Amino acid sequence: MDFELSEEHQMLRDMVRTFVDKELIPLENALGPNREITPDVMKGIQAKTKEMGLWMLDVPEEYGGAGLDLMSRCIIDEQVGRTSLFHWHWYPTFGPALRPVLLHCNEEQKQRFLWPVLRGEIRICFAQTEPDAGSDPANLRTRAVRDGDDYVINGNKRFITAAGESQYAQLMAATDPEKGSKGGITCFIVDLKAKGVTVTESWPNITGECLWEIALDNVRVPAANIIGEVGQGFELGQKFLTEARIKAHGARSVGAAQRCLDMMIEYSQQRVTFGQPLSDRQAIQFMIVDSAMEIRMVRNLVYECAWRSDRGEDIRDLSYMVKIQGTEMVTRVADRAIQIHGGMGVSRELPLEHFYREARAVRINEGATEVLRWRLARNLMRKPKRS
Ligand SMILES: Cc1cc2nc3c(=O)[nH]c(=O)nc-3n(C[C@H](O)[C@H](O)[C@H](O)COP(=O)(O)OP(=O)(O)OC[C@H]3O[C@@H](n4cnc5c(N)ncnc54)[C@H](O)[C@@H]3O)c2cc1C
Repeated sequence: MDFELSEEHQMLRDMVRTFVDKELIPLENALGPNREITPDVMKGIQAKTKEMGLWMLDVPEEYGGAGLDLMSRCIIDEQVGRTSLFHWHWYPTFGPALRPVLLHCNEEQKQRFLWPVLRGEIRICFAQTEPDAGSDPANLRTRAVRDGDDYVINGNKRFITAAGESQYAQLMAATDPEKGSKGGITCFIVDLKAKGVTVTESWPNITGECLWEIALDNVRVPAANIIGEVGQGFELGQKFLTEARIKAHGARSVGAAQRCLDMMIEYSQQRVTFGQPLSDRQAIQFMIVDSAMEIRMVRNLVYECAWRSDRGEDIRDLSYMVKIQGTEMVTRVADRAIQIHGGMGVSRELPLEHFYREARAVRINEGATEVLRWRLARNLMRKPKRS
């Protein structure tokens, strides 16, 4: 067993770390009052990543990307997680806004959807959640019924990221409700400007972002817009969510927590109360040490999971553990960092409150903590016992 990153991975980490320190962290001062990133700043970041050869790192080689393994992509996400510029669940920083289900397009669909997304001409959101089907998407009610060359879709989606900025949605609908997740759900590309589609902004959430609702009233979608096979949609969605749990939730939580820890150490050594630096107080030292231990444990888990995935192992259960541990760990670490910084900690002058808000939100999407624990328990009890 070797705990060292390979030379290639170390070079990648150092390059992205430098980029984050020199180019991204200074931009935190240019954020708006709600710490939102303006489109101009985002364009500037994307131009810079292209110039430095960091563009499309997350895209497979056959589509013009770098085709990096999951380990490399976790290394990148850990570094990017140290900035407070982006929402954790959706950040097309180093590439176009690609939701990977789209990689299952057939040749004709690639021309219409995948290539335009990769060229940055269009965006396609991912629409699965419904008012009565969030944690339990297998129970979704949106119905698609075949009619000639089309399907007619009726239903409602909610909490959809970036639907308002997207031209299309990768939308999950039941084609055979009896079968549910076992062959009854299909992924359609739905034109959000089509007759019968209404996209409305819902309430802003804790991250400062607004999610979207999509209502579908007798919307005709050509059968040629089905991604993958009829009935295969649920499986395609789950595959993409497994990777998202490791990268977006695990690695990014580690990066954010590391930044919080670095800030805690620095500030506690500078800030003097009652004649002594905070760092001399055991209460403060324990917060710092607990954070360092917890970060190390989750970092090891993230990289073990990425390593196993790159070897072709089934990592679904491990990905649940990563997501639970990562998002709970960063919530605790950000909370301690805020506490040590006192009044400054809760101010928008520092990135800590951003980390805290993002951490709170990501304990819900892409598998709420309790749901993942429940699934893990179910799987553990099914499997033969091993030490
Ligand atoms: C920031 C953000 C971005 C999102 N983006 C998207 C997107 O782009 N596309 C999309 O389709 N969806 C998106 N969602 C929706 C997200 O996937 C759902 O919010 C999530 O699946 C939970 O569903 P729900 O909100 O209906 O909660 P519910 O399913 O009603 O669950 C509420 C709570 O009940 C508990 N719970 C539920 N089931 C169990 C159980 N079996 N055992 C124990 N406890 C349980 C959990 O604590 C859970 O938090 C996003 C959500 C957020 C917060």
